[in-house]
Amino acid sequence: MEEYTGIILKKISYKESSEIIYLYTLDGLIGVLVHGSKKMKSPFLNLTKVLNYVKVFVSGKNLKVLRDAEIIENNTSIVTDLEKYTYVTHMVELIYYFATHEHDHDKLLGFILKIIPEIKARADYIPYIYMLELKLLYLLGVNPNLKTCLSCDETKELVFSVKDGSCFCKNHLPDDYFSNEVLEAVKQLYYFDLEKTREIEINSRVLPEIRKLLDEYYDYHLNYHSKARKMLKGLIGY
Ligand SMILES: [Zn+2]
Repeated sequence: MEEYTGIILKKISYKESSEIIYLYTLDGLIGVLVHGSKKMKSPFLNLTKVLNYVKVFVSGKNLKVLRDAEIIENNTSIVTDLEKYTYVTHMVELIYYFATHEHDHDKLLGFILKIIPEIKARADYIPYIYMLELKLLYLLGVNPNLKTCLSCDETKELVFSVKDGSCFCKNHLPDDYFSNEVLEAVKQLYYFDLEKTREIEINSRVLPEIRKLLDEYYDYHLNYHSKARKMLKGLIGY
């Protein structure tokens, strides 16, 4: 038997009463068949929920089959309303999509485990999701340069260009850019250390602008957009 610990990112129905869960572990994504998990009397009925942090014991070569399991952290209460549900879905979809790419899964999993309690506990959870989206850019190797002008190394009063993935000073303004206020907020989130502090100081006024920056960045540099994003727009208006 093999043992894995990870976060459930997705589940699909398998035959009538079973499910396959996709677990994000230190080694990346693995699929595990859970026999009879949809039956009311199944001991795994509460296990197979998206975002639960679980330890599983599996056997089987091609298809891993669950033999035993325990829930380390039940995260089903993370969702309190439709907006949060959709935002969390957007985040989970993003992690799942890039889980099959080669990057530092250890680091990302560690970060997800730190960010989930924050999202769970807060009404103002959106900046924490942004934080994950920004830090993932670094892991995917398309990290933005947020500190110096690309043309002259100036470090003050900079603005940000998505296409260049970089800052510029007022003497080298690109055609299209995000303001210094948005850049400073993005910088705070990108370099945020959850070990040191948990309070984010960002004016809610800039949240729609950061959303726009992230959407454009993922679209331009990774050709990615989540399915949940469209629904989110209908709910939050941007
Ligand atoms: Zn410059």
